[in-house]
Amino acid sequence: METGKKDIKSYTLQELSEELLTMGEKKFRAAQIFDWLHKSQVTDFSRMTNLPETLRKRLAEVYTLVVLREVKRLSSAQDETVKFLFALPDDKVIESVFMKYKHGNSVCISSQAGCRMGCRFCASTLGGLERNLLPSEMLEQIYRIQELTGERVSNVVVMGTGEPMDNYGNLVRFLRLITDAKGQGMSIRNITVSTCGLVEPMRRFAEEGLPVTLALSLHAPNDEARRRLMPVANRYSLEEVIAACDNYFEKTGRRITYEYSLVAGENDTGADADELGKLLYKKNCHVNLIPVNPIKERDYRQSSFKNVLNFRKTLEKYNINVTIRRELGADIGAACGQLRKSHLDSDFPAKNSCGTGCEQY
Ligand code: SAH
Repeated sequence: METGKKDIKSYTLQELSEELLTMGEKKFRAAQIFDWLHKSQVTDFSRMTNLPETLRKRLAEVYTLVVLREVKRLSSAQDETVKFLFALPDDKVIESVFMKYKHGNSVCISSQAGCRMGCRFCASTLGGLERNLLPSEMLEQIYRIQELTGERVSNVVVMGTGEPMDNYGNLVRFLRLITDAKGQGMSIRNITVSTCGLVEPMRRFAEEGLPVTLALSLHAPNDEARRRLMPVANRYSLEEVIAACDNYFEKTGRRITYEYSLVAGENDTGADADELGKLLYKKNCHVNLIPVNPIKERDYRQSSFKNVLNFRKTLEKYNINVTIRRELGADIGAACGQLRKSHLDSDFPAKNSCGTGCEQY
């Protein structure tokens, strides 16, 4: 961020109007600027051609316009998944994934540079947390991908690097901006936010009037097994986390997605499936099984396909809705911080992500 300058892309229209009034400008200028930023998605104040030259100059003096720079692009040879490595204004690096589905185009965005949650199987957490992403930097991942691919994005999953509930204020602001009808105007129903289960922000989130699909990274059917895979399970019991999910469903009417990454010998036995079935029995939810993506820093192995299918069969006996996630872009390391990590490990000046690039079947 240019020092001292304000991040204009993170302001709501209301706030922008107040800013403009304080500058002695007319309120309608705010609507014009908001349109340039979030509808036309321009990268420079000089392109705001319906503003007087003097105002454009003044804006550039007071505000910074956050634009992400493409560092690297990997296109899958198997499908149309494209993974982008972007540099933030301070040259930290994040990754985002563009996926094409029959129902529309989706982008998986990062919410933090790095992550401090420490999940054992995840590459995004290996270098710890660098910093939170600003609302503008979350928006930019979508805006830039639209520009770079020439495709409209209709769906967003906040499932890239980072824990969105650990960057709560910026996440909520991002959601308000991306769904603003005067900007990108994305439907709130087309957005999924994935969390490892931070209970207090999850409860607060249920009250925001932002009924996204909430995905909970469960990965184990009991506290003991969950603690082995996810340090966050030492902070919150499974009971507390599931209660927060039930509360979210009650308040928003949105069915919870439980994500369960299957790790050979860790959480993929018949007994595990039974225990999970009992835990979720009669809940209005959906379980997404993800064969874990092995990362080179850990020796976790993917469950055999037979185990995955058996796991699903057992859950279905409990009348639970189950899908198995097919990895899109597996050939480009589209999963879980792998591209960023390999970039950080290499000699590139900049560096990055998570459970992305996935489709259900
Ligand atoms: N912090 C959030 C969102 C990012 S991770 C969360 O924990 O939900 C997105 C999903 O990918 C999570 O379910 C995460 O547990 C999963 N994931 C991370 N690394 C993975 C790997 N190597 N294989 C499979 N799933 C992984």
